[in-house]
Order: sequence, then C-alpha cells, then structure tokens
Amino acid sequence: MMLTEAEVRNLSICAGCGQCLVDCPVYKASADTTHLPLFKGRMLRKIYESSHGILSALAADPRSEVERLLSAWSSRIYECTLCGACSENCKYEIEPHKLWYRLREYVYTRNYAPDSLKAVVENLRVHGNPYGLSKGARRFWLRKASSKVGIPVGEAKTIYFIGCTTVAKHEDRPIAISMAKILNKAGVDWAILGVEEPCCGAPIQMIGDETLLYGHARRVVQKLREAGAETVVTACPTCYRMLSQEYKAILGGDLPFKVEHSSTYVKRLIEEGYIRVGYAGVKAGYHDPCELSRHTGIISEPRRLMEMVGYEVYDPDYSGEKTFCCGGGGMIKACNAELSSKVSTVRVHQLARGGVDIIVTACPSCKSSLSAASSGLGLKVLDIVEAVAQNLEDG
Ligand code: SF4
Ligand code: SF4
Repeated sequence: MMLTEAEVRNLSICAGCGQCLVDCPVYKASADTTHLPLFKGRMLRKIYESSHGILSALAADPRSEVERLLSAWSSRIYECTLCGACSENCKYEIEPHKLWYRLREYVYTRNYAPDSLKAVVENLRVHGNPYGLSKGARRFWLRKASSKVGIPVGEAKTIYFIGCTTVAKHEDRPIAISMAKILNKAGVDWAILGVEEPCCGAPIQMIGDETLLYGHARRVVQKLREAGAETVVTACPTCYRMLSQEYKAILGGDLPFKVEHSSTYVKRLIEEGYIRVGYAGVKAGYHDPCELSRHTGIISEPRRLMEMVGYEVYDPDYSGEKTFCCGGGGMIKACNAELSSKVSTVRVHQLARGGVDIIVTACPSCKSSLSAASSGLGLKVLDIVEAVAQNLEDG
C-alpha cells in the first residue's frame, strides 16, 4: 500500500482517543462498533504494516491476514459517508476521512469492493454517469425540460454544469429547471453541455479507482474548454468540490475557467440587481451539505440567500462546518441503502425539531436523501435555487 509521508505520519500519531467517533453519523445511526472511524483506522494500520517495516518481516504471513480482514470487512470501508466529521473532531489534525479514500483505493484495486460499487464504476465507463442513465434517456429529459423553460445547449461564457444526480433523480430535476429560470431571467450568456455532459468523477474517486480518475478529469476539462467556458456554475457541491479543488490536484495546475457554486453565484446575481426576489415569509431549517460547508467552506452564502427570499433561517444542532451528513454521501447509498436512510432519518429529526415549515439545502444529493426521510413528517425539502426561482419577481 502506498501512502504519502504525511499520511504515514498521521497514521502513526493517532492517539486512539476516540474523539473522531463522537459525531460520526453512521455510528450514531447504527450503533455498530465496526462503523467506527477507529475500526477503519485499525484496518488501515494493519494493511500498511503488512507490507512495510519490521512487522511485515517478523509476522508469519501478514498478507494472508489482510486478505482475511478484507474479505470479512471490506463493505465497512464503504459504509461511511466520507462526511469528514471525524476529521473535524480530531485534535491531532490527522484528517482520518482523507485516509479512508486511500483505504478505498486499496480495497478497490484488490478487487474487494462490493459488487454494487463495481457496477457504479462500470456505469461510468459505459454511460458516462454513475446511474447508468443512457444518452437517450438524458435526451428525453432535456427535451421535456426545454418545453418548460429555455435551456440552451452548446457554447457560452457561462456553462451550467448540471451534474448526474440532478438529471437522474426525479425529485432533483426541478433544481435544473430553477437554475434555467434564474439564468434566463438574469440575461446571462449561458448553456449546458447537454447529453455530452460527463460526470464530475466524484463516484470513481470515492470508490477508489484513481487510475480512471485522471483521464476522466482531463476529458471533463477538455469538454468545458471546447464549450468556451469562462465560468462554470453548478448547483451540486460534489461537482463543485471536484471542479474547484480536486481537478487542480489531479491535473496539477489551474483550470482555464472559474468555478462557482450556485449559492454564491445566484446571491451575486441578486446583489448586483440582475434578478429580484419577493418575500416568502416561512420558517426554514437549513441543512448544510458536508461537501459545501465542511469540504469547501461555503456556509454563510446559502443562509444569506434564504434571508433574501424572506425565509426565517433555523440552524439545527450540527450546522456549518459541524454539520451532520444527510445520509447520501460517500457512495454509502449504493453500498447499503438501509443504513443510508437511517442516517437521513436522524438528520431530518434534528431539522424538524425547530418547528420548521420547510427544509432547505443546497445540494441535489442532500435534497434526495432528506426528501425520502422527511415524507412521513409532512416536510417538503427544497434546494435553495428552487426557493429563489419560486420567488422571482418580474422586471
Ligand atoms: S480523534 Fe484523531 S487521534 Fe483520536 S482516535 Fe481519532 S484519528 Fe486518532
Ligand atoms: S467520514 Fe463521516 S461517516 Fe465516515 S467515519 Fe468519518 S465521521 Fe464517520
């Protein structure tokens, strides 16, 4: 197993204090100790020691022990939302959730990843998206969406990168329609890549196929460059993290365009007078997506946008960089859907405690997970751009 010097150092200085487990959403939902961050940490240490250092020479057959470990417990490595709450709580700044990516890479390349996750990678290879949505199905949706609102396809200064989840999930499609309404109303020179829009590659990073990721990232940048993008705006925080942070590291340099999340972009459109919004007057619980608040630092902008449309913002326990995963992160849903929905249920109850009229978030994946879990409570979930589009004023 290859780890960087910093990762080896982090692994070796882990004090075993257990602070990382305190807010782990998966452990909170399952109460199963094999979901603890420490469990994954021990596995990683065992795997590393089986092939490095004095222990690998002394132990009788360290590799077969690792094989046994992986065949019994590999699914536990993916039963984690990669939310980063463990890293948030670690006083030693070990950033355990980043080590989980390396663990996944190792498990995947040794062919121990669960079949459902291998199928996701295959979908990406064949269809260009993790859901296995065909180009025909994508074209059909686009035609239907275009009958409701103008959606230009092709070249433009601003490319709206829709993201696979928004297109694939029925409940998320209104996010794309809302973005189109906002961009049209603001008179932006914009377009989408249409059926040619590739996945941002996050699923392959999360599953652990780092080899596929490099070529994939290059192709995405090439497509956006060919479309003439000066700005790429996306309402998906995972696409945003990949395009604004990960690609620079993967491809080694700055990208030829600026990348923005919809929350900062739309907020600026309002502030600069390109669009005007009315006053909604409802109490809304805001769910911070892990990818947006903890991983990319966008916390105040969605709240400000909510205030602009007249929402009274309720911050539940676990807000901002201390957020609690919606249950849909880290490909956990593809690995263990039942566990994923248990996490979503915990989160929805935290939000509902504020006596809110509605739940608002800024991520298609969070919207989808929270919508499923909140239906029994009669609470509707909206993405922030939907809230803006619903309250657009004429003129
Ligand atoms: S909080 Fe940090 S130091 Fe403590 S057990 Fe977790 S990873 Fe190790
Ligand atoms: S990344 Fe999140 S779900 Fe995974 S171990 Fe850390 S706290 Fe738990």
